[in-house]
Amino acid sequence: MVSKKEKFLNLYHTLSQINRLKRKELVLPIAKKEVVVSPLSIGDDLAIKTALVSPVRLDFELLQLLYRHTEFFVSEDELSTAKKRNKKKKEEIEKLGGTYAKPDESSFYSQISYFDKLVLMWGIYLITYGSLGERELECNSCEFKFKHDINLEDTIHDDSLTIFEPEMPFTDYIVPVELDLMEDYALEFLTRIPSMANYNQLMRLVTIEEIQSNLEKIRSQFSVEQLMALYTKKMSVVNKKTKEVLSESTNPQEIITSLRDHINIDLAAAFMRSYHDHFSKYNVNFYKNVECPKCKEVMKVGVDVEFEFFRRQFSN
Ligand SMILES: [Zn+2]
Repeated sequence: MVSKKEKFLNLYHTLSQINRLKRKELVLPIAKKEVVVSPLSIGDDLAIKTALVSPVRLDFELLQLLYRHTEFFVSEDELSTAKKRNKKKKEEIEKLGGTYAKPDESSFYSQISYFDKLVLMWGIYLITYGSLGERELECNSCEFKFKHDINLEDTIHDDSLTIFEPEMPFTDYIVPVELDLMEDYALEFLTRIPSMANYNQLMRLVTIEEIQSNLEKIRSQFSVEQLMALYTKKMSVVNKKTKEVLSESTNPQEIITSLRDHINIDLAAAFMRSYHDHFSKYNVNFYKNVECPKCKEVMKVGVDVEFEFFRRQFSN
């Protein structure tokens, strides 16, 4: 005879083992890490829905959800080092099946870039739901309207992800951008690929009212000075002739306020051009090539993973 409690544990254990079969291996292109992700459950849906009251909570809930559903691949070398050094770590790794482990929560948020986050969301959506469901599409050339089901498996292509090529971690990689301020002075920005933690830090500085107003006015949740702060590790004012640094800051709030009150829009546009020249190649690009049933023209239908992820949560 098994007790009630054991029965419960067995059922729990069985479902957990079955879910492990549904896991998917992914490569994070910017963090350059191999991971496995596991599917969402009802508990995750609820967590996301209750976080709806504020964008900051929603973003943080999403980060925690990604943390719960992601494990990092551990190589043989890393595994034997962990075994030698730390008994607790060894036990954790073995519990997860021998070759996968979880980093601690805060390093997970700081070691994974915003682009990698989209890849994680893509993988989790794929193994949880598979398809985005039927969509109404319109052919670009003959304007024929038709319904089409988009399976996420068909939305990844050779050009969907760009691996971060420098030898260093993306968190150490900075690109200086210098912009003339006045005759003798220049602004120097050390620009970066933001991590999930940087993104969440910015969310905490922006009020719900600001996000709503940004969405209405500029159709983006962040204003240009907020984006510039997200992309900047350090901002300095320098004397061009003497190269002397007059002042500098790494504080996002101080950077946002300084830019908002003292920098003109042309300068901001020049910053954005320069930033995109260096970093836009890392944008993830999920799309499906769909053939028009009438004229047979093939068109690219792009998938916004973040949008689809939330749409799914709120539609059921
Ligand atoms: Zn057509």
